[in-house]
Amino acid sequence: MDDGVYRGRFAPSPTGPLHAGSLVAALASWLDARAHGGRWLVRIEDLDAPRNVAGAAQTILDQLDRCGLRPDEPVVLQSGRTALYGAAQQRLISIGRAYPCGCSRRDLQRLAGAPVDDGEGRGERVYPGTCRDGLGGKAARSMRLRVNGDGTPVSWTDRRLGLRRQEVARDVGDFVLERADGVWAYQLAVVVDDAAQGITDVVRGEDLVDSTPRQILLQRLLGLPTPRYLHTPLVLAADGSKLSKQTGATALDLSSPLDALQRAGAALGIECRGSAVAAWLDSATDAWSARFGAR
Ligand SMILES: [Zn+2]
Repeated sequence: MDDGVYRGRFAPSPTGPLHAGSLVAALASWLDARAHGGRWLVRIEDLDAPRNVAGAAQTILDQLDRCGLRPDEPVVLQSGRTALYGAAQQRLISIGRAYPCGCSRRDLQRLAGAPVDDGEGRGERVYPGTCRDGLGGKAARSMRLRVNGDGTPVSWTDRRLGLRRQEVARDVGDFVLERADGVWAYQLAVVVDDAAQGITDVVRGEDLVDSTPRQILLQRLLGLPTPRYLHTPLVLAADGSKLSKQTGATALDLSSPLDALQRAGAALGIECRGSAVAAWLDSATDAWSARFGAR
């Protein structure tokens, strides 16, 4: 599908309405697509069913619409694509890079070390490879990727942050592909979907920057292209903590979509004027091009 045409996406989880931070991510990905004359897709990341809130996906789409951010193709739901994730995992098993893990959450919590963000807000410690060579009589719970560490970090150049590197084997360990509750892990699903949808550029919040090396590793193992990445600054709460739906960030005030867009633009370092949403988006696209450069 890579014919040189830019394809970007915004991929919210339907755990509640957009908040100020998620509008920033949506706006950044939309502006980058427009600045490149490309297409902008919306993918609803609804795999974690217990966290989904009924009606939230439609609420998000309605909020985006009020801000003039409309997808160029039909919206895709991850819950309809689980066969693709299963096929990718099967491929990793067949090349000896995925294995079952029988460790319980308690086993994992007892491990020393700082938690590693799994991209879903569930911290886990660096996995020491307990089940690498077999389950030792335990029942299989989750599936993990066998990360072979030879000391070579995964490195990539972020369009805003520059050269980044991470030694996944040391800093993350063998990470989960399929959770004990049968839910496909964010890392696997996002890699499969970005490739299947021909995504050339991932523009998302900096909270996901540490997930990127895991995704690049999976892309390489699955023979998939690596998109370009741009991680945008995080919008922080007044007390400096990260805004998220989980930490109770208040819903976005869309009584004036233009004001909401201007606040989101300011968080991206874009100050521009416009008397209506469409005009503001036009001038914001120019400002974005000046800042982040149409390639
Ligand atoms: Zn294990």
